[in-house]
Amino acid sequence: MPELPEVETVLTGMKEFLLGQTIRDVKIFSPKLRNIIPKNLRKVVVNQRVLAMSRRAKYMLWTLENDQTIIIHFGMTGVFRTRVRPNEKYHPEKHDHVWFELEDGTELIYRDPRRFGVMDLCPNAQLEQSCYLNHLGYEPLDRSFSGRSLFDQIQRRKIAIKQAIMDQKLVVGVGNIYASESLFLAQIDPDRAANQLTYEEAVRLVSAIKKILKSAIRAGGSTLRDYRRIGGERGYFQASFSVYDREGQPCPDCQCDVKKTGGIKRIVQGNRSTFYCPTKQR
Ligand SMILES: [Zn+2]
Repeated sequence: MPELPEVETVLTGMKEFLLGQTIRDVKIFSPKLRNIIPKNLRKVVVNQRVLAMSRRAKYMLWTLENDQTIIIHFGMTGVFRTRVRPNEKYHPEKHDHVWFELEDGTELIYRDPRRFGVMDLCPNAQLEQSCYLNHLGYEPLDRSFSGRSLFDQIQRRKIAIKQAIMDQKLVVGVGNIYASESLFLAQIDPDRAANQLTYEEAVRLVSAIKKILKSAIRAGGSTLRDYRRIGGERGYFQASFSVYDREGQPCPDCQCDVKKTGGIKRIVQGNRSTFYCPTKQR
């Protein structure tokens, strides 16, 4: 499943050929995704220029000239592929849902075998209130997500801090892997009650979350040049995990005797595996 850094990487890649272009044609082959792709998609987007492209949580947003936004979510297996100046006519393949043609002749095809993705339309003015975005918390890389804002948000939360930072209503895009890695970097025990963190710990945790997500985006930028490879099981951030999926191993720069301590520990929180170093994380 693509996480926030992958979506950011895809967005950057797609801007290069889509931003500023006019959509010349659209065809829907199979409207059923998590939503039903609106029947009027073609009518609304044809002959419209893509004025802006952005991301909110794991949604990609294309803003059109007519003050409408195309909302896209990749779900589990959503992926775009392009055909640049093809010499053969396009014939839809299995799992192809939508086909776009751009003014320069590039064809853009959305494919989604498991159909958990979203493609929908929303007037710009109603975007924040839409059912997709209206419940979302802080954007983790925004300046508004600070140690102060996290600290204020967790005052009334007795749940484990790891589960608190994975709650989309508080902050978006901190998936299971990034949560474990951020708590390790901040040296905070993932099982502590959120409201027991000190202000200094909240500051440390927020800066760790930003650092982990930024480095995942950088890794995506260098290894995922081809945005078309997004989706599915590929986790390009995997090479650099400190604790995730490393049960029983020493953590980076570990001074402790793994034979005595058992090394990195795995626990289950909210049905998800958490990995942490009981020596360093308190
Ligand atoms: Zn350790």
